[in-house]
Amino acid sequence: MEVLDKALEILRAYPLCDSCLGRQFAQLGFALENWERGRAIKTLVHMKLVSEYRSGADVLNDLVKLAKTHQPTRRFLSTVGVKAEEEKCYICGGLLADVEKYAEKAAEALRGVEFETFEVGSSLPRDILEREGEVVKRFLITTGESIKHEINRRIGRELLRRLPGKKVEKLRPNVVVKIDFTTGDVSVLKNPVLLEGIYLKLSRRTSQAKKFGGVKATLLEKLQYVRDIFGGVEHVIHAGGREDADARMLGTGRPVVVEVKQPARYRADVPPLVDSDVVFKPIGYVNREEVRRIKEKAKTDIKLYRALVLSERPLTAEELSKVSELSRRTVVQFTPRRIKRLSPKKKRVRMVYDIHARLVSPHVFELYVRCQGGLYVKEFIHGDGGRTTPSVAEILNAQLDVLELDVLAVE
Ligand SMILES: [Zn+2]
Repeated sequence: MEVLDKALEILRAYPLCDSCLGRQFAQLGFALENWERGRAIKTLVHMKLVSEYRSGADVLNDLVKLAKTHQPTRRFLSTVGVKAEEEKCYICGGLLADVEKYAEKAAEALRGVEFETFEVGSSLPRDILEREGEVVKRFLITTGESIKHEINRRIGRELLRRLPGKKVEKLRPNVVVKIDFTTGDVSVLKNPVLLEGIYLKLSRRTSQAKKFGGVKATLLEKLQYVRDIFGGVEHVIHAGGREDADARMLGTGRPVVVEVKQPARYRADVPPLVDSDVVFKPIGYVNREEVRRIKEKAKTDIKLYRALVLSERPLTAEELSKVSELSRRTVVQFTPRRIKRLSPKKKRVRMVYDIHARLVSPHVFELYVRCQGGLYVKEFIHGDGGRTTPSVAEILNAQLDVLELDVLAVE
């Protein structure tokens, strides 16, 4: 049998423990642990060699090699007067015999963290990896499993036994148990909680995250209660776009993800927040890709704005109706003066789908603009000294000032 020949070939060159031998054939014989596979192979090699030895074949050298890591063979050899010494495994040096013992330390490190899913990640001394690589390369092994994989799998299984109800999750575990086999240290890496919700901003003196000028509160501050519920040490927010601090966010609201770093728990009941400045309504847990998608989507979302605009010169309703010419128009904007220092001279092209105006008094009108996300709406209204074209100010031939701006809908 090819497996036995190959196994004997390997054992002639290297003493390997049951696990390290069995691992080279890990893809053969489903539902066997590597040490069971390795032991079975050694037993069969032992039976074959002993019967050949008894029929007079010269296999003593092979028996001595096998005996280095196989007790029954040592026993057999002693009955025929040959003393063979036990040797340490060439690859792991004995580490795999009871690697499960690290699960106890890991369970200890996880105490106090309320999690559901985990993964084990280990780092091994370089020489172990090099020796494994040497064996795999020399014998062209294509049926094996890596030692790291076996260790992570076995400690993971032992942790499952010790921590009933938890699950192993490769892609997005709540926590990663890190075991450093060089130092023996076990640590826990806590992935952040990502809670998606939508927010409304009812105040014109509240910004998303930064405090400046007349801003009296931030959404970030208001969402600290989420961090406290999860027992985290820090929180940040990822919103699908942003309105100006003095613009209200009304209607259907805007998606935002609260990222709680180093949480003490991964599931909690988060009540909605409603105060005079903001409303936050939690929706559910998301992952990094979904956060990216929310941010990306904001660039192409359609938004509906309402603005209250002051005109320097009095306007008639008939004049004001000219703004409808701006429906279904492409607007070209150079980076507004107010943020110019940050990113100078960038050109942005956005669509205005629909625009309606209603005269409130000769100098004041209300404007509804349905446009592509990313349009600088204030600049689209007052023209920004010609940096945005076409603009409402240009069409009306009037100097305009935006008194109020609200986002009514994010479609
Ligand atoms: Zn080994």
